[in-house]
Amino acid sequence: MAKTLQDYKSSVKPIWCAKCGHYGVLNSLYRAFVELDIDPANAVTVSGIGCSSRLPYFVNAYGFHGVHGRALPTAMGVKVANPELTVVATGGDGDGLAIGIGHFPHACRRNVDITYIMMDNFIYGLTKGQASPTTHTGHAAKASPQGPSETPIDPATLAITFGATYVARCFSGQPAQTAAILKEAIAHKGFSFIHVLGPCATFYDTLQICREGTAQLEEGYDDTNKQSAAATATSINPIYLGVLYKSDQPVHVQGQPTSSLPERAERMQRLDKVFANYV
Ligand code: SF4
Ligand code: MG
Repeated sequence: MAKTLQDYKSSVKPIWCAKCGHYGVLNSLYRAFVELDIDPANAVTVSGIGCSSRLPYFVNAYGFHGVHGRALPTAMGVKVANPELTVVATGGDGDGLAIGIGHFPHACRRNVDITYIMMDNFIYGLTKGQASPTTHTGHAAKASPQGPSETPIDPATLAITFGATYVARCFSGQPAQTAAILKEAIAHKGFSFIHVLGPCATFYDTLQICREGTAQLEEGYDDTNKQSAAATATSINPIYLGVLYKSDQPVHVQGQPTSSLPERAERMQRLDKVFANYV
């Protein structure tokens, strides 16, 4: 029987603030799962820490809410252990580009077949409005009343440069495009990175920037040219939305589990014995 959005909604209701941009991403992810007919028993969402990192609670699938900035190594480990799973890592700009940024280049260049959704609201929301690595220069935030003096990081440019094989940008207020991109990204064989812009309605309402400062990639845009894709991703006037870059490259650990189930069970027993010495 065809699945519906309800098949992917967990019994936990999102507790994000009203008008938070993360709702749009969650609903788009449900839609992408429906269209790809993904079995919830074969899907895993993995996150770090932050408002957006609550997402695994709201998805009827396996979930792992880990520690700050560490979603990517966990997600890659899940996929390598069981390549049959659909693995989606999620998190925010603070989680992915501050404490977690050391993992980002290596995930991009390793090309494990997972999808990483960065829900970028240009601020730390969970900790109540400090400047993040994507906060616009000069935007007054609680812990930086003059605004940050640093130039914001653009994660899509980094992802292309670091070797990600699918890089796209969208806006959570445009759910049809976001769902279509998520669907294509999850279906893509290799590491796919989705940069989703959206407002933190409570601490940095960038709705106007997301609406008026963005533009769709032009008709005929070449999403296979890495150099021009990186240049396009870097543009801030306008900020381009759409599939910026895609490439067909060998996928890391494709097809076969690294070990058999009995081997894994034996390894777990050995680990249990090791940990027993510490409790
Ligand atoms: Fe969303 Fe901001 Fe509220 Fe967090 S604080 S739930 S990011 S609106
Ligand atoms: Mg944020």
